[in-house]
Amino acid sequence: MPEAPTAKPAPVCGYAPGAHREALEFIEHVTANAGKVQRRVLAEILAQNAPAEYLRRYGVFGSLDAADGFRRLVPLVTYEGLLPDILRIANGDTSPILSGKPISEFLTSSGTSGGERKLMPTIADELDRRSLLYSLLMPVMSQSVPGLDKGKAMYLLFVKAESRTPGGLVARPVLTSYYRSRQFLDRPHDPYTAYTSPNEAILCVDSYQSMYAQLVCGLVHRADVLRVGAVFASGFLRAIRFLEKHWPRLCHDIRTGELDSSVITDRAVRDAVGRVLRADPALADEIEAECGRPSWEGIIRRLWPRTKYIDVIVTGTMSQYIPTLVFYGRGLPLTCTMYASSECYFGLNLNPMCKPSDVAYTLIPTMCYFEFLPVHSSNGNAEPTHRDLIDLIDVRLGHEYELVVTTYSGLYRYRVGDVLRVVGFKNEAPMFRFVRRQNVALSIDSDKTDETELHAAVSGAVQHLAPFGASLVEYTSYADATTIPGHYVLFWELRAGSTAVPASVFEDCCLSVEEALNSVYRQGRACGRLIGPLEIRVVAEGTFDKLMDYALSRGASINQYKAPRCVRPGPVVELLDARVQAKYFSPKCPKWSPGNKQWNNTKAELVSNGDAA
Ligand code: AMP
Repeated sequence: MPEAPTAKPAPVCGYAPGAHREALEFIEHVTANAGKVQRRVLAEILAQNAPAEYLRRYGVFGSLDAADGFRRLVPLVTYEGLLPDILRIANGDTSPILSGKPISEFLTSSGTSGGERKLMPTIADELDRRSLLYSLLMPVMSQSVPGLDKGKAMYLLFVKAESRTPGGLVARPVLTSYYRSRQFLDRPHDPYTAYTSPNEAILCVDSYQSMYAQLVCGLVHRADVLRVGAVFASGFLRAIRFLEKHWPRLCHDIRTGELDSSVITDRAVRDAVGRVLRADPALADEIEAECGRPSWEGIIRRLWPRTKYIDVIVTGTMSQYIPTLVFYGRGLPLTCTMYASSECYFGLNLNPMCKPSDVAYTLIPTMCYFEFLPVHSSNGNAEPTHRDLIDLIDVRLGHEYELVVTTYSGLYRYRVGDVLRVVGFKNEAPMFRFVRRQNVALSIDSDKTDETELHAAVSGAVQHLAPFGASLVEYTSYADATTIPGHYVLFWELRAGSTAVPASVFEDCCLSVEEALNSVYRQGRACGRLIGPLEIRVVAEGTFDKLMDYALSRGASINQYKAPRCVRPGPVVELLDARVQAKYFSPKCPKWSPGNKQWNNTKAELVSNGDAA
């Protein structure tokens, strides 16, 4: 098998501070030779994991033909398919089940299976691969934004308490694992990644103390801050809301130079913040003057005047936060720099200052072996198999694919569940737009509404609120099967405007959502038997914060938390229902006619699909 031309190999755990040219050369090299690099990566994974029982089970051994055997024999798999192996590892079986290297810990993904968080086994080397990807971020960013070494970054980063599996392995979110690693904690000084948050504040498992301490430090350094951010937009906005609530207390601490001892009880955090906090009444006055103004529009620019951009992920469903970020940032660019998961870190946005709607991620071919499952139209019923898979360099512009990865940690042809669209190429390597997470669906009957469709429908409907100055802060949905027929419920948290919104306008919103949903849904509604009128339940301000607190108390991590777009019956729906202030229903059926384009090829199809609906 031909090897990739040997350019200087990348340093194992990433490029040294300032080695921007080398890092950019690495990106050039691996994207220009993506096909060859991918073949080498597959060969490396199979050689490293030759002892793994999983590969042997499928007849793949670490010989020269391993790659060929892999391509022919290893099936597509989902988390559920791996669960028996994962549980063996969790229960203490240390034999090489998935990986030839020892499993160092479990990463707890935000995805769930059977109501439980997914557990991703990982190996120690993966931390180096993650560090390598991180080390590419500033070289790429500095091409667009010069001078980022002349100040600090206020990034709000959090860890979560760890647990242990019955077999004794640590289980924690991937970012907790990274922030606790030597790769992060012993990183050499880099003027491009000088954070305002001390490590002790990041590592504090009490998220209230951690947030408080990080914001104090961010405010103390306000004159030096060049960029602000968090991992996902939701986490950053949570910080802004925290500030809205607690700024008088934070200012008091800055005025006196003393941390409120009733808030910060963690000794290490107190000491770390104490190293930067000095009594500074003038700074406290400035911050109070900004925070005390009636409108918080542009508060980020006002509090951190040298900020050049807000670094948060706003792709996927996070895009609904864009208007709020634009409000607080008064037009500050929003940058989405990277695409990653607990299974593996995938790639980078090589044009990070582009508009959020133009964000495309280039998968870095050294991270894992990538394959792609074409997304079939909804009437393609056959279960996909590994024979449908396409290699990284063979994907086609404009086409959508589900991402499938084979990792050094020992996932083989694992369906990540993300749908990506090819929007361009960097050399040989495709660039992908994040389209949606697969299988997040509302369904009452044979209708299926995915997250993207729901999001578009909700975005259209909320336009009805604009004349009243009201806007949607957050939403989720629920297929309420307790009514007959069942119906879709949307929980909306609103920011009130100057005028009260009449009930008829909310009813228009209900209908507008329904009109925007797919024809199977509208048919189910139009016939009146299968799906009941869509309902909007307006919930009290702060409800979605409570929902996040609930998720955190159940083990979610602030960094990875995303408000669920669909919820299932149970405690979450109870939490939401307990805060409902008003309910509105769609006043009539959405339009539907039998001549729908999707089904009108033959009469037989029409009939059978009509039956199905
Ligand atoms: P987790 O395993 O909890 O870290 O979640 C990983 C998932 O988060 C990915 O599979 C994506 O669905 C989502 N995600 C990660 N990065 C991005 C991004 N840049 N844009 C959109 N979604 C993302």
